[in-house]
Amino acid sequence: MMSELKTIPLMEVPPEVAHRVALLRDLPPGELFIHEIYQSVQGESTFAGLPCVFVRTAVCDSRCKWCDTPHAFAQGERMSRASVLEKALYFGSPLVEITGGEPLLQPDVFPLMTELCDMGKTVLLETSGAHDLSEVDRRVHTIMDLKCPDSGESHRNRWANLACLKPTDQIKFVIASRNDWNWTASVIREHRLDERFQCLVSCVFDAVKPVELADWLLESGLHRVRMQLQMHKYIWDPNKRGV
Ligand code: SF4
Repeated sequence: MMSELKTIPLMEVPPEVAHRVALLRDLPPGELFIHEIYQSVQGESTFAGLPCVFVRTAVCDSRCKWCDTPHAFAQGERMSRASVLEKALYFGSPLVEITGGEPLLQPDVFPLMTELCDMGKTVLLETSGAHDLSEVDRRVHTIMDLKCPDSGESHRNRWANLACLKPTDQIKFVIASRNDWNWTASVIREHRLDERFQCLVSCVFDAVKPVELADWLLESGLHRVRMQLQMHKYIWDPNKRGV
């Protein structure tokens, strides 16, 4: 049985980042503000195609222009960490992804990931790359964005995080234009990212055609960089939530 959830009323999405982050201010230790927990097929990363439980935290302090989860900016339920764990385990999946919103805004995400690892789960963390990764359990597979210029958030890339990543971790670039691709290729070369980590590139749905990104990748000679499509957007309606 899953435990009862303490629900707080849904509200209009506050437009400003400060208003969103304020929703976390009164969150007591031991609680998380969760948008949804569900099972689906992992649509991205080197784990793509595997059944996976997604724990989507509410609230993000970034504002990427092409964000496909703005519904998670301010709406959710307060849940005890024990309840989140119980619901994540309910599906029986060995693969659990903590995503958002921005998970690292909530302190209880760190012990939650450790508890899942202790239970033998393969834990993925998807994060914007704007927050310190140094306290993330080393058993977690981190998938960190480096935001490209067209996202409007590239000034928040926390470059010091590169020193916290492991060779098995993944860096994701979401490409919205040729300009974004040129920036990505140059950053990968400058920091030798393709030799140090798993590098993933994907296109903003409806902004760059997969065939364009494939051509740019092949022309570049970046042979270790992996192109990916958001598989769930091809399986289900691209606007469908909870998949
Ligand atoms: S970091 Fe992720 S959740 Fe936040 S605005 Fe950007 S794409 Fe959306």
